[in-house]
Amino acid sequence: MSRCRRCDAEISRQETTCPACGYDPGSAVRRFGLGLVIFGGAFAFVSPPIGLFGVFAGIVAVGGSYLYTPTG
Ligand SMILES: [Zn+2]
Repeated sequence: MSRCRRCDAEISRQETTCPACGYDPGSAVRRFGLGLVIFGGAFAFVSPPIGLFGVFAGIVAVGGSYLYTPTG
């Protein structure tokens, strides 16, 4: 049993999305954003401007996934 990060409703282990608001904690956008943050952090050692931009874009993607949840 976990709680929705957006509306604090209880989400059972069988459900991957919040039954109350539809928030998906494992959405593709969020995974993509986390990947960008990790990849950008590593890439920052090679090319800081591009790496830091990747980290920034990843944070925006993760943050946006809290507000906007794509269906499907
Ligand atoms: Zn919710």
